[in-house]
Amino acid sequence: MKRAIVFDLDGTLVDSLGDIVASFRWAFGALGLEAPSEATVVAEVGLPLEAMYARFAPEGAVAALAAAYRRHYPRHFADRSRPFPGVPELLGELRSRGYALAVATTKRSDMADRLVAAMGLRDALDHVQGTDGFAHKPAPDVVLRALAALGAEGEWMVGDTVHDVVAGRAAGLRTYAVTWGTHDEQTLRRARPDVLADDLQGLMSVL
Ligand SMILES: [Mg+2]
Repeated sequence: MKRAIVFDLDGTLVDSLGDIVASFRWAFGALGLEAPSEATVVAEVGLPLEAMYARFAPEGAVAALAAAYRRHYPRHFADRSRPFPGVPELLGELRSRGYALAVATTKRSDMADRLVAAMGLRDALDHVQGTDGFAHKPAPDVVLRALAALGAEGEWMVGDTVHDVVAGRAAGLRTYAVTWGTHDEQTLRRARPDVLADDLQGLMSVL
């Protein structure tokens, strides 16, 4: 059986937090509400949209904010987003070592597919698994579905939040946390990933 590496998408493979945060904050303006600061929003990226809005808005406004986001983000998701430096090369190298590669994201699959394609990563990945109406990370479901789609044995989960670390561990994978995304080093350390790194190249040395 092939071995697999499962990656989170936003803040891990793709520098996409700027576009997410911009759309998230835009929705407040669209509803005549005051938007929270960029920094406070960044810290919540990785949760489902409704859960993110619930952190900043009264419950009665959450559905309208999420709907506004879903109008705005599909038109702006690639304005500033780019793969992090070295990501296409790293995925190519892992492939050449025989690994099956998947994304497991809290985004819905249709939007995740569009982002992956726009970033030029579609051919570098064997599967893109979004969270479509089942339990989101830190539950292991999206990771397990990605592995099932690959038909491969999971080895590593790579992500930028404690949710990724907890989900990966719950799915029976070793966990590799990267420090350039949503959660800072201190926050990630509390989740006790197997590896905590400020680059992805380290992944090659622990395989
Ligand atoms: Mg992330």
